[in-house]
Amino acid sequence: ESLVAAEAAVDEQEIEAALRPKRLGEFVGQQRVREQLSLVLDAAKLRNRPPDHLLLSGPPGLGKTTLAMIVAAELGMPLRVTSGPAIQHAGDLAALLSSLSEGEVLFLDEIHRMARPAEEMLYIAMEDFRVDVVVGKGAGATAIPLEIPPFTLVGATTRAGLLPGPLRDRFGFTAHMDFYSPAELEQVLRRSAGLLDVPLDRDGGAEIAGRSRGTPRIANRLLRRVRDYAQVRADGVVTADVAAAALTLYDVDEAGLDRLDRAVLDALVRRFGGGPVGLSTLAVAVGEETETVEEVAEPFLVRAGLLARTPRGRVATTAAWSHLGLVPPPGNGA
Ligand code: ADP
Repeated sequence: ESLVAAEAAVDEQEIEAALRPKRLGEFVGQQRVREQLSLVLDAAKLRNRPPDHLLLSGPPGLGKTTLAMIVAAELGMPLRVTSGPAIQHAGDLAALLSSLSEGEVLFLDEIHRMARPAEEMLYIAMEDFRVDVVVGKGAGATAIPLEIPPFTLVGATTRAGLLPGPLRDRFGFTAHMDFYSPAELEQVLRRSAGLLDVPLDRDGGAEIAGRSRGTPRIANRLLRRVRDYAQVRADGVVTADVAAAALTLYDVDEAGLDRLDRAVLDALVRRFGGGPVGLSTLAVAVGEETETVEEVAEPFLVRAGLLARTPRGRVATTAAWSHLGLVPPPGNGA
């Protein structure tokens, strides 16, 4: 069974890679980010210099990795991909940085999860294109400066606020990626349906878009589930009815809430009477890490108007109660 799961995961990654826009012109939505980025890249090309380091922040699945790949492609430079959790020692980072070629783009995902000593090394490297390699131990230890070629760092994080100030300040440009509108998701879906050769009608696209949690990755994933259903249970065409039936079968509700979102709302309303309740208490109640609840579930619940963050804790809105088919007690709900 785990082999099947592993194969499915590989498939998933392959399809995700196939659906990734390769150039800025193909990237749907995020218009401000696209315009700003295009200016930064054009200016760099004009000056024939690597652009400033870029920080991309936003919830998972909104296109941060895709943009990093686009940056490298638009600059005509190679791309190196790593992530914060993979860099546990400053030595790992020193080895990586000194192996970069001139102008290379380094994508560092989950940059907020890097080890502290590596973080310090990184911001010196970003600013001075230098790493200090420490040799020896104790009082005899010396730092040997090593020059590294100019490179462009593209950092990604679920929240820019999680980065220490000195690191954040060394990015010349920060793009905040926000959830996509239903119209933008429809555009993503039309593009993907074309690439995957799925007959998707207009209302079918709208139905899936409305349940995609504002997230292109989820839209693409749901499209594939709906395609399966359309082929097996219908005539292959993805209409609104087919999409709605398929997504109900897969437990995706009309608002697009997934299992974690619903668990959070459910705990908030049923166990804590709608709140206010502290974030960590809520996380324990749903059996998840605080970070996951805060960075994965909450941003969408807030955006959907179902949860409010207040100084005294998390509160379910009136809409949250009705979403669960309940009536808020008098005086309750934000
Ligand atoms: P992140 O790195 O933010 O988690 P990714 O860049 O991996 O997100 O994007 C997830 C998937 O969503 C990609 O495979 C890509 O096909 C799709 N995607 C993301 N953003 C866009 C976009 N703006 N236009 C079209 N497809 C997108």
